Amino acid sequence: MKSIDSFDFKNQKVLVRVDFNVPLDENFNVTDTNRIEAAKPTIDKIVNDGGVAILMSHLGRPKGERNDKYSLRHIVSKTEEILGKKVTFVTDCVGATAETAVAASKPGDIILLENLRFYAEEEKGVEAFSKQLADLADFYVNDAFGTAHRAHASTTIVAKYFGEKKCFGYLLAKEIESLNKVLNSTEKPVTAVLGGSKVSSKITIIENILDKIDHMIIGGGMTFTFIKALGGKIGNSICEDDKLELALDILKKAKEKNVQIHLPVDILAADAFAADANVQIVPANEIPDGWQGLDVGPKTLESLKPVVAESKIILWNGPLGVFEMEKFANGTIELGNFIAEATKNGTFSLVGGGDSVAAVKQFGLAPKMSYVSTGGGAMLEMLEGQVLPGIKAIQE
Ligand code: AMP
Repeated sequence: MKSIDSFDFKNQKVLVRVDFNVPLDENFNVTDTNRIEAAKPTIDKIVNDGGVAILMSHLGRPKGERNDKYSLRHIVSKTEEILGKKVTFVTDCVGATAETAVAASKPGDIILLENLRFYAEEEKGVEAFSKQLADLADFYVNDAFGTAHRAHASTTIVAKYFGEKKCFGYLLAKEIESLNKVLNSTEKPVTAVLGGSKVSSKITIIENILDKIDHMIIGGGMTFTFIKALGGKIGNSICEDDKLELALDILKKAKEKNVQIHLPVDILAADAFAADANVQIVPANEIPDGWQGLDVGPKTLESLKPVVAESKIILWNGPLGVFEMEKFANGTIELGNFIAEATKNGTFSLVGGGDSVAAVKQFGLAPKMSYVSTGGGAMLEMLEGQVLPGIKAIQE
């Protein structure tokens, strides 16, 4: 696999799949610029080499129809501000309009094509549409990890028209490298922290990573399926009653594979799922009737501290409690602080998959982690052991 650094893009027209699917407020202002910033190194490399960067992305879910609400024109000025360069917006992603704009471009130019998903062909991965995109350029770079698990025209199908003239951008390469560091680590111990609401949504991940880790810290709502399966009293806590056998099976498999499981020993229980609920700390297996566990307790955190501190590699997926409410955010924040401390001391920490990313950002912990993944679903599928079509298409 050749890295982007081994290519010189001088006088090359480079089609770059970026993930500019950024959140906008009601006045179409970009409210989180992370994804644009994350694509900057790749775009800089292309234009600094003297190539033309032809950026393509989706925004929202326009469902195959033109809809100004989802036009990428809304993000042009923010993108120019972040890149520090002029960006030429083109009102179509294929056809005569796009072709004319590309033909008129000069080395060092940046072109942003209109939303790919204005065409239903994008998500369907239609070949003719992919070919139209490919015809715009000499070289293809995929730098959109967030959509790498989709076999769409711009993320996967388009790659086959470029032969050897294709590669990952810096961001996608870094995502793959970070995940490989965790899943194929030679350093030990490796710890996975799995939180979030349900066992069922994490089961494939758990099964895939049991062979690769030494410790599994379980938190969040899925705790209670395990505790109940072990005979504990969980009150009104969230529980998947049809997954009790599965929970026991996971515990058995973990034992066979010498993976130490850390379940909470105490719980912050509430008398309602509400920000102003009454709360008490109770043993994790003695939650009173009418109460529900919404965060881990202090003894649990104390016991997790050395486990985290001694880990060489940490993967964190899912919050330890209902962090969206201040009263139940402590476990997630404290665990984040432990991981931040370990990271400072040389541990490699990877945070990924949906809500844990939101949590580390909300609590200012993101800069203290080794790597925070930009792709929710894509990250989860990689953790499940799947080969992502967008990644395979570049490697083939
Ligand atoms: P997931 O998308 O599966 O990672 O789940 C994330 C969600 O789990 C967050 O919105 C949390 O509020 C929620 N969560 C975490 N702990 C609990 C809990 N003890 N009870 C109910 N929901 C929880």
